[in-house]
Amino acid sequence: MTGRFKSQLKEINESFINFDRLSTLQINVGDLCNQTCTHCHVTAGPNGKKIMSKKIFDKIIEYIKENPAITVDITGGAPEMNPHFKYFVGSILPYVSRIMVRTNLTIIFEKGYEWLPDWYGKNKIVLVASLPCYTEDNVNRQRGKGVFNKSIEALKILNKKGYGRSIELNIVYNPGGAFLPGDQTSLEEDYRHKLFSQFGILFNYLFTITNAPIGRFEEQLKRSGEHSKYMKLLMDNFNPNTAESIMCRSTISVNHEGTLFNCDFNQMKNMPILKRSKVPLTISDIQKASEKGYPIVMADHCYVCTAGAGSCCTGALDAG
Ligand code: SF4
Ligand code: SF4
Repeated sequence: MTGRFKSQLKEINESFINFDRLSTLQINVGDLCNQTCTHCHVTAGPNGKKIMSKKIFDKIIEYIKENPAITVDITGGAPEMNPHFKYFVGSILPYVSRIMVRTNLTIIFEKGYEWLPDWYGKNKIVLVASLPCYTEDNVNRQRGKGVFNKSIEALKILNKKGYGRSIELNIVYNPGGAFLPGDQTSLEEDYRHKLFSQFGILFNYLFTITNAPIGRFEEQLKRSGEHSKYMKLLMDNFNPNTAESIMCRSTISVNHEGTLFNCDFNQMKNMPILKRSKVPLTISDIQKASEKGYPIVMADHCYVCTAGAGSCCTGALDAG
């Protein structure tokens, strides 16, 4: 089965298996998190030990200063829990065209993180917030007891700081099990209606993201005997219209040690971008990794990006 994804893409267009142009640098600052969600592909939690050091952050800052017109997408874990998070964001703010932080929302209620909503708002950081459903039961089942109510309270606080109006606030939906997301446009309408009518909450866009068969979600699939069935679902729903836009053609992902990957999923699979000598590329080699035509490292989990409407860190690829 290995190599099948690459062959399928190659049949559509030879260039789809290679890097195109760098528009987004995604930085995974570590696996420390205040939650332990069942769908987490990075297996993050309160005992996370992979923490990006200031030395690695400084190398990234150096690169961004020299290559300013890119989007920076910061993820984790709960990225805010990295001790250098504020320093890093503050350092790159004057240079980048856009900073997105993937927040789990509940972090703002943890001791020592109360400053976040105010600071986010003042710096107009784009937030991408996880809320996998608009019903309490579904959210709590995936993300833990009490998470829904805290998330709603957090969204209300962010709305008061201007989020959802003058500052961009996006919500991430992911399915509550081994199935593909529904239509992004219809789900966005449902979310908009439910969140506003029940809680007065405003947001900008909904991103539907397919669950990746990696990390804690993969373990759950294996425990329930659904792994093969889920892989088949992803493969059977391969959508050729999504192939050109897979995110690894325009994004490079950096892990806590500064190693480069084609995406966060490859990070979790420990499949770095390699030099011809098979040595992993690091942040110091980013010019090389972002050359047009540089080969993308692919495997079976890649079908998560092309199933149905497709999926990337900013939602569906073929939304209509
Ligand atoms: S899904 Fe997000 S909030 Fe949940 S454990 Fe993983 S990193 Fe933390
Ligand atoms: S899993 Fe990663 S490498 Fe594979 S297609 Fe998706 S973005 Fe590209």
